[in-house]
Amino acid sequence: MSPVEIVLVYQSLLGIYGDRGNAMVLRQRLAWRGIDATLTVVEPGDPVPSTGSVYLLGGGEDAAQISAVKGLKADGHLFDALDRGAVLFAVCAGFQIAGNTFTVGEQDDVIEGLGLLDVDTRRGPVRAVGEILTRWKRPDGSEYLITGFENHGGFTTLGAKAKPLASVEIGVGNANDGIEGAVQGTVVGTYPHGPVLARNPALADHLLERALGRDLEPLPLPELDELRRQRIAAVRKTGTRR
Ligand code: GLN
Repeated sequence: MSPVEIVLVYQSLLGIYGDRGNAMVLRQRLAWRGIDATLTVVEPGDPVPSTGSVYLLGGGEDAAQISAVKGLKADGHLFDALDRGAVLFAVCAGFQIAGNTFTVGEQDDVIEGLGLLDVDTRRGPVRAVGEILTRWKRPDGSEYLITGFENHGGFTTLGAKAKPLASVEIGVGNANDGIEGAVQGTVVGTYPHGPVLARNPALADHLLERALGRDLEPLPLPELDELRRQRIAAVRKTGTRR
C-alpha cells in the first residue's frame, strides 16, 4: 500500500500560530498504528501535489491570505485532489480563504476565496481573542469537546451548503452566533489554534478516517486525556459560557 500523503500547504504564509503541528499530529497518529505516511511541505511557488490524502491550511495575516488564494487558484491541484475525495482541514485564515469571500485591510476590500466552503467572512465588531471551547457532534452521535485558542478579526457566516462543525460553549467562534467552523463534503474549516489536532486527537482521527475511508483503531493515551481534562476545567473556570 502506498503511504498516506499529508500535505502542509504554504506554511510559511499561513503558519504563524504553529498550525503546522496539525500535520505532525496526523502523521504521528498514523505511525503509532503502523500506517506509513509522508509529509509534503509545499511552499509558495512550489507545485501542490494532487496525490495527497489530507491537505492542511493554517492561520495567517491578511496579505498572506491574498497570496495563498492566488497561488492555489493558479496551481489548481488542490481542487483536483478534493474532487478525488481528499480531505482539506483549514484553520482560521485557512478557513476564511476556503470560503466564498473574505475582507482584508482598513478598507475591508472583499476578496474572492477558493469557494470550497459556502461561507463568507467580514470584519466583526470586535476581535475574537482567547480560549475557545466547543462541542463537536461526532459521526456516531457522541459529543466531544474541542479546546483551542482563537485570534481573528473576521466573522464568518455559513451559507446553505455549509454545516456547522461545532457549537460554542466558551469563546466567540465564527461570529458570536454560537456556531464554530464549517463542514462541506470533505472540507472542514475551524478557528481554533493549539495546534487544534494536538489538543483534540479525536478530531485528528476523524479527518484521517474520512481520508482513508475506514475506521481506525483507538489509541489509548491516558496522559493526553488528563491534559485535556485539565485544559477543559481551566477554560470552564475562567471563560464565560454562552
Ligand atoms: N486575518 C484573519 C483575521 O484576523 C485571520 C487571522 C488568523 O489566521 N489568526 O480574521
